[in-house]
Amino acid sequence: MIEVIKEYKPRANKNHICNYCETPISRGEQYCRTVLRYDNEVYTWKSHQHCDMVAQELMLSGYVDPDDNGCTTDDFKESCREIHDEFIESDGVITMAQITTDLSLLFAIYDLKAHKPNGYTIGYKLKRRIRNEIF
Ligand SMILES: [Zn+2]
Repeated sequence: MIEVIKEYKPRANKNHICNYCETPISRGEQYCRTVLRYDNEVYTWKSHQHCDMVAQELMLSGYVDPDDNGCTTDDFKESCREIHDEFIESDGVITMAQITTDLSLLFAIYDLKAHKPNGYTIGYKLKRRIRNEIF
């Protein structure tokens, strides 16, 4: 089981590499820093704010099953490529930095929802987020 010890959003005082997308976090950029304990080992997970947002959506929707490992780098990159291929038109080679930026913009407007017509997930759909709902 992964245990979150501390979560904060400092400004990078040097260059880091995002643990999700493996591209640079620039010096001066605000990023997500999470101190975790897993199997009695304490380590720090660093990520872009937009990658963290995309990872949360992947786990919330069930696209990535967080089980006891959380969303790993491989889970993240593979899922991002699949979802980008399915929902965003692009031609030619696209970089991981562009994929994660596109997906964070997509998830700002749409929720990723499992499509379960018979109770089993057969695919995923985008559902527009409803703002200011009044019940
Ligand atoms: Zn990233």
